[in-house]
Amino acid sequence: MADCIFCKIVAGEIPCEKILDTDVAFAFMDIGPLAEGHVLLIPRAHYETLDAMPAEEAGALLRHLPALVNAVRDVTGCEGVNVLQNNGRVAHQVVPHVHFHVIPRNPGDEFHFNWPAGEYGEGRMQDLGEAIRRALPRGS
Ligand code: AMP
Ligand code: ZN
Repeated sequence: MADCIFCKIVAGEIPCEKILDTDVAFAFMDIGPLAEGHVLLIPRAHYETLDAMPAEEAGALLRHLPALVNAVRDVTGCEGVNVLQNNGRVAHQVVPHVHFHVIPRNPGDEFHFNWPAGEYGEGRMQDLGEAIRRALPRGS
């Protein structure tokens, strides 16, 4: 994608602190870290959101996450790690090229979630579960 900043990073047209580079996956340091050691894992190919990715390619991308999380934790000494992936502007996706954030977490750090856990009325969860199961393609 001609004007995608992450495609330009993959192509070497914009510099980055590269962590990992395979035929499918690419990882680099986030330039605006939520904590020191914040890494981004992206597909080499341009997909705007995760749902647009072929399953095999998503699998080949995600297989790198456990090792990345371990490396970030070992190097930073963080107590925990968030893996975040935002789809769509409303979900805080600023760069329209799929990316997984690997974010070191420590007690008292500056990164906070608003996690407004709700509750279902009678039967609503089961209805939605059934609808979602039906919406999945065969073999999922
Ligand atoms: P999101 O809000 O999920 O779209 O996150 C986009 C992330 O990309 C942010 O954390 C930015 O700091 C990061 N980012 C944007 N431009 C660059 C860049 N040139 N190099 C590294 N990270 C970047
Ligand atoms: Zn792109």
